[in-house]
Amino acid sequence: MNITVWNEYRHEKENPVVADIYPNGIHHTIAGFLEEAGHMVRTATLDEEQHGLTEEVLANTDVLVWWGHKAHDEVDEDIAEAVKHRVLEGMGLVVLHSAHFSKVFRKLMGTTCDLKWREADDRERMWVVDPAHPITEGIGQYLEIDKEEMYGEHFDIPTPEELIFISWFEGGEVFRSGATFKRGRGKIFYFRPGHETYPTYYNKEVQQVIQNGAKWAQNIGTPTHIYGNADPIENISEK
Ligand code: ZN
Repeated sequence: MNITVWNEYRHEKENPVVADIYPNGIHHTIAGFLEEAGHMVRTATLDEEQHGLTEEVLANTDVLVWWGHKAHDEVDEDIAEAVKHRVLEGMGLVVLHSAHFSKVFRKLMGTTCDLKWREADDRERMWVVDPAHPITEGIGQYLEIDKEEMYGEHFDIPTPEELIFISWFEGGEVFRSGATFKRGRGKIFYFRPGHETYPTYYNKEVQQVIQNGAKWAQNIGTPTHIYGNADPIENISEK
């Protein structure tokens, strides 16, 4: 599978706390464990030409993983549209953490994608609520993250097609942390964890879920329909 990991890559350059955790950027950490799992992985970042997402890169990407936070507005409108178009064509999309507010995700959802949040070192316990789903492979009843940013309901997304995880936070909130959507021929997996000041993407179970999510989101050769005016397949008898 050809995976592209896209990262805004700004916090790591501007905040020493984040640089300490992800010295080469969040994208390299994510690309690292996906490569170990046997995939062809490339990375792309906001400040590259065309954000690293040329037509050719998108055309050769089976699954795009997206992390962004403080610079969603700097993502070029045309490139966000091109990514959306590729998802409709069948490219898988894994949307991580604060990318709930990315142009790409909001375009595909059609809602505000807003939520509650708090940075207070909450413990997060994320429960599997769909134990038959392949995205939960290798995970126990729940996974726990010692300290994370809290995301709380209401999360303004369309009703997910499948709800995979629900998080509980120490401060009392809950959140739909793993949810899937289909748009056109494309599959989308939203996965909540990964605030930049915590080492969340080194957590083996979090890595397993992202890996499972990418595998699930890959198009497996489903039909491409032709739209518009259609010639009959059978001879239509005269009435
Ligand atoms: Zn965050």
